[in-house]
Amino acid sequence: MDIFFLGTGAGMPAKLRNVTSIALKLLEERGAVWLFDAGEATQHQILHTSIKPRRIEKIFITHLHGDHIYGLPGLLSSRSFQGGDSEVTIYGPKGIKEYIQVSLSISQTYLKYPLSVVEITEGVIFEDNQFTVEARLLEHGIPSYGYRIVERDRPGTLLAEKLKEAGVQPGPIFRQIKNGETVTLEDGRVIEPDKFLGPSQKGRIVTILGDTRFCENARVLAQDADFLIHEATFSKGEEELAFDYFHSTTYQAAEIAKQANCRCLCLTHISSRYDRNTWSELVNEAQEVFPHSEIAEDFKEFHIPLR
Ligand SMILES: [Zn+2]
Ligand SMILES: [Zn+2]
Repeated sequence: MDIFFLGTGAGMPAKLRNVTSIALKLLEERGAVWLFDAGEATQHQILHTSIKPRRIEKIFITHLHGDHIYGLPGLLSSRSFQGGDSEVTIYGPKGIKEYIQVSLSISQTYLKYPLSVVEITEGVIFEDNQFTVEARLLEHGIPSYGYRIVERDRPGTLLAEKLKEAGVQPGPIFRQIKNGETVTLEDGRVIEPDKFLGPSQKGRIVTILGDTRFCENARVLAQDADFLIHEATFSKGEEELAFDYFHSTTYQAAEIAKQANCRCLCLTHISSRYDRNTWSELVNEAQEVFPHSEIAEDFKEFHIPLR
């Protein structure tokens, strides 16, 4: 599980930071990439990476400001020409459906793969046997969602030696026990999986927030997250400006990470008012409050290890 930043700038593209797009790479977990926002030229950014558009399975849109969605129609269209034939599901606020339909129909774009668009409300918006995704509204003037991606705990490793000592021979039974099933042997003995499995492996939690003011739902979505991505459009001391423009400061992002007991914070949505030399100052500000703070850069990747 890795986070790959495709675009990390605020509002409009800058030379060093394109507008927002974040890839959650789940290649080992499900051979897929989930995208969060698709600012203009996201597909150009992807060209410089190892990400395959055909691997994109889901696209989560945080809000409908242009710097988060202007890259979507082009990306969807090109995916057809890049071997993409598997279904894509897009999740986003009310209006995302019309935006996509109008863009595709006026440009007479026909996709070679099934596309479904889900206009979300707060709550669990996706769930399968691997992941749950929950969305909540933040504070940004227009509806802006934050997403909390929770990986299910994995069963512990199989204690094969212990099973052999109990007279169970390797075979399909091992797999059943590994999957947590209770097995009755031919001799009538019942094998409880708990006794033959190591401790279960805690699933990871990733929280990716759209643009927002400092707000309570950000904290709720970030609770105990392994990796929190929070915007930091302003630096510390600019709380009033941040409030007026529905954005956050470095300090506020760090305060959320601290209150929510996160493992790592990554600042993004960085204004072009800050040049390369001042990025480290922004991180330092956050680290005063929350030591495990990082700053996103275009094409920077973060691995999210198991605990
Ligand atoms: Zn934005
Ligand atoms: Zn915005």
